[in-house]
Amino acid sequence: MTTDQTHVIVGASLAGAKAAETLRKEGFDGRVVLIGAERERPYERPPLSKDYLRGEVGREKVYVHDEAFYAEDEIELRLGRTATGLDTTSRELELDDGERLRYDRLLLTMGADPRRLSIPGADLDGVLYLRSVEDSDALRARLDRGGAVVVIGAGWIGAEVAASARQRGLEVTLVEPASVPLERVLGAELGAVYRDIHADQGVRMLLGTAVEAFEGHQAVERVRTSDGRKLDCDFVVVGVGVEPRTGLAARAGIAVDNGIVVDELLQASAPKVFAAGDVANAQHPFYGQRVRVEHWANALNQGPAAARNMIGRSVAYERLPYFFSDQYDIGMEYSGYARSRDRVVFRGDPATREFIAFWLAGNRVTAGMNVNVWDVTDPLQRLIRRRVAVDDRRLSDPDVPLEQLVQVEMGGVA
Ligand SMILES: Cc1cc2nc3c(=O)[nH]c(=O)nc-3n(C[C@H](O)[C@H](O)[C@H](O)COP(=O)(O)OP(=O)(O)OC[C@H]3O[C@@H](n4cnc5c(N)ncnc54)[C@H](O)[C@@H]3O)c2cc1C
Repeated sequence: MTTDQTHVIVGASLAGAKAAETLRKEGFDGRVVLIGAERERPYERPPLSKDYLRGEVGREKVYVHDEAFYAEDEIELRLGRTATGLDTTSRELELDDGERLRYDRLLLTMGADPRRLSIPGADLDGVLYLRSVEDSDALRARLDRGGAVVVIGAGWIGAEVAASARQRGLEVTLVEPASVPLERVLGAELGAVYRDIHADQGVRMLLGTAVEAFEGHQAVERVRTSDGRKLDCDFVVVGVGVEPRTGLAARAGIAVDNGIVVDELLQASAPKVFAAGDVANAQHPFYGQRVRVEHWANALNQGPAAARNMIGRSVAYERLPYFFSDQYDIGMEYSGYARSRDRVVFRGDPATREFIAFWLAGNRVTAGMNVNVWDVTDPLQRLIRRRVAVDDRRLSDPDVPLEQLVQVEMGGVA
C-alpha cells in the first residue's frame, strides 16, 4: 500500500501506541502521527499500583515499546503536546503549540481521568491521585517515608494501592461507602472475599462509610468521615473511579455518552474518526449494547482493531471484557460481564483463595473470575460466548475440566 495519507492518533498510551504499531504491521506506509500530552513515551499503567509503585521494577519495565521503535517504524511521536481543537469538516486537528494537522483518519485514544473529590480540604497537599507514572513516583516517595495512609475508595485502584502500601509496611485505612470492597463489579459475595483478604493483611477497613472532609494546615493531617471519625494520617490516596476524556470530541460535535460513542467498527459519529481504549463506549456485537471497558486488555486489543478499520479492514471488535488484578500474593482474572442480579457458583472454596467464581443468568455463564487458578481464560470465555447451558453441580466440580463443559452442544446441559 503506497499512500500519501496521514493517520493521526491522539493519546500516546497503550491503545494509541498499539494502534500505531498495527498501522505499520498491516502495511500502511503513509504518515503516522502519535500525539501524547504526557512527556513520557507510551507506557502501561498496571505496574503503577503494583510492582513499580513498590519499587520492585524500574521505569524500563513499563514502556509499551523500546525507545528506538518509533523512529524505526517511522511513527512521528509528539510528546508533551495536547490536541486542543478538532474540526471534523476540514479534518484538522489543532495542537496546544498552534500547529494544525490535517488527517485522513483520526483515532482518539485519550483514556480517562481520575474522578476528583470536591469536599473541604480536597486541595491540601498530600491528597494524591494515581493515573500517571509521575503520580506513581510521587506516591512511591510517600511509601518510602512510611507512616499512615488513608485510601479513599475500595475499587481496583484503591484496593491495589492499599495492598502495596501494606506490603511496604504502612498503616493503611481503607474508607468505602459500599458494604464490601469492589462491590460494584464483583457484588457482595466476592467483595466479601476481598474484604477478608485485606483484613488478614492488617488493613483497617471502614465500610459503609463516606469521607466528608480532609483537614490540616498546609497538608492533610486527618480525614473526617460520615460517621464522625477523625482518622490521623500522613497522606491520602483517592481512588473513586475515572471519567473518560471526552472534551475534545464533544467540543467537535462528536456523539458522547459515557465515552465517545462508537459502532462495532469503532467508528465515531463523525466521518473518518475512530476511538478505542478507556475513552470509547463501543457497540458490542455479543451484548447487543454499548460497553465501555476501562482495562488494560481492552486498550491492548481495541487500539489495533481500530487501526485495522482505519485502513478499511471492516472487522467488528467483539472480544469479551477481560481484566486482571494482583493484590498481595493473590492474582485474579475476570472475563465477561455480570449483572447484579446474576447468581454466583464457586468451583473451589473461596476461603482457600484458590477458586473460580462463575456468575450465571439462569443456567448460562455470564462472567467468571479465576483467583490463583491459571490457564482457564480460554475455556471460560468459550462458555460465556457460546452461551452453553451448564449444570451447577458440574460447574462447581473441579474434576470436570471446563473444556468438557464447553464441548457440550449449545442447548444441551453440560
Ligand atoms: C494505576 C493503574 C493500575 C491499573 N491496573 C490495571 C490492572 O491491573 N488490570 C487492568 O486490566 N487494567 C488496569 N488499569 C487500567 C489500564 O491501565 C487502562 O485501561 C489503560 O491504561 C487504558 O489505556 P488507554 O490507552 O485507553 O488510555 P490511557 O492509558 O488513559 O492513555 C490516554 C493518553 O492520552 C493522553 N491524552 C489525553 N487527552 C489528550 C489530548 N487532548 N492530546 C494529547 N494526548 C492526550 C493522556 O495524557 C494519556 O497519556 C490500571 C490503570 C491504572 C491508572
